[in-house]
Amino acid sequence: MSSPRWSGHARSAADAGAHLALAAADGGAHLTLGAVTRGARPARRRAVRFLAAAGAAAAALALTACGTSGSAGGAAATGPGSGLTIVTAFYPLQWVSENVALKGTKVTSLTPSGAEPHDLELSPSQVSQIRTADVVVYIKGFQPSVDKAVQQAKPKHAIDVAALPNIDPMTLDQEAAAGITQSDGYTASPSADPAAQAAASAKAKAGAAGLDPHLWLDPNNLVPVAGAVARALTAVDKAHAATYDANANTLGERLGALSTEFSAGLQACASTRIVTTHAAFGYLSKRYGLVQLSVGGLDPEAEPSLQRIRTVAASLKGSDVTTVFFEETASPDIAETLAKDDGLKAERLDPIETSNTEGDYIARMRTDLKTLEAALQCH
Ligand SMILES: [Zn+2]
Repeated sequence: MSSPRWSGHARSAADAGAHLALAAADGGAHLTLGAVTRGARPARRRAVRFLAAAGAAAAALALTACGTSGSAGGAAATGPGSGLTIVTAFYPLQWVSENVALKGTKVTSLTPSGAEPHDLELSPSQVSQIRTADVVVYIKGFQPSVDKAVQQAKPKHAIDVAALPNIDPMTLDQEAAAGITQSDGYTASPSADPAAQAAASAKAKAGAAGLDPHLWLDPNNLVPVAGAVARALTAVDKAHAATYDANANTLGERLGALSTEFSAGLQACASTRIVTTHAAFGYLSKRYGLVQLSVGGLDPEAEPSLQRIRTVAASLKGSDVTTVFFEETASPDIAETLAKDDGLKAERLDPIETSNTEGDYIARMRTDLKTLEAALQCH
């Protein structure tokens, strides 16, 4: 693999200040972002904030909407597993838990369906759910509000996915040093802007300093999660130990098969470079020999401007890169500009951070694989 060319287009100080300020600010700033991207995401994020502010009643609604697809009727369920509750931080952890738990177990996600887990705020009723849950599954260092709630509520069995054996959490700096994620200095250098510095410092204090949380995009990393959920469930429900163990093994086999599909599909491609607007694909890149060129940062809230995207696109003109990947479908304006000026396509690559109607984790990972195979011209 040749080393990627990814320099000579340093981001201007003004550009840096603007984006970090956006990341730091609330509400109003997203309107500006929305004007640039016209995506669905700013609206969704505002919706999440509103939810948090609205408190318990709204949160209860969200939890209903979020569902307990692994349970047979939620609280009213009877039979094996009924009465047990698993509270998970966001969708992929919910999906793993549902696959390991018995049918009657109530498995919920703190992040409502359709919302992003980044910067989640919790309602008081969600904090009390964490307190009373039999098992809590989260990633320490990802969502400060969840970290704080777990620390205060002290649930009986809290699984910090980032601390599990066989999972190797990375920071963006480590990914850069290993050549997995090239960010062109976009997120690595601190801003001179005081508001941005304060925000960065607050995140660091909350334990979110630089951890790339997107470990679920390497399916192998969900295998130890399944094992940990099985062990925690066994601790509260010994009678079904064999079933939990078997369920975790079955899920591990499915995840292993998915990983084999990725390895085979991405084995021989014309390019190994993926250009992303949300640096969510570091673990996937590491596992399958790709290099992620990040136009934006780890937090989708710090969404890059059209100018930033165009600067990167111009630097890739004539290279083997064919596509810029967006978390959501890119606005027609951006797609058109990229195609016209730089000959690049705009495609959606799903970071699978929230549940939706497009299928479960495995189905959506397969969609991502197809998208990658086409963009990287794999044989
Ligand atoms: Zn993300």
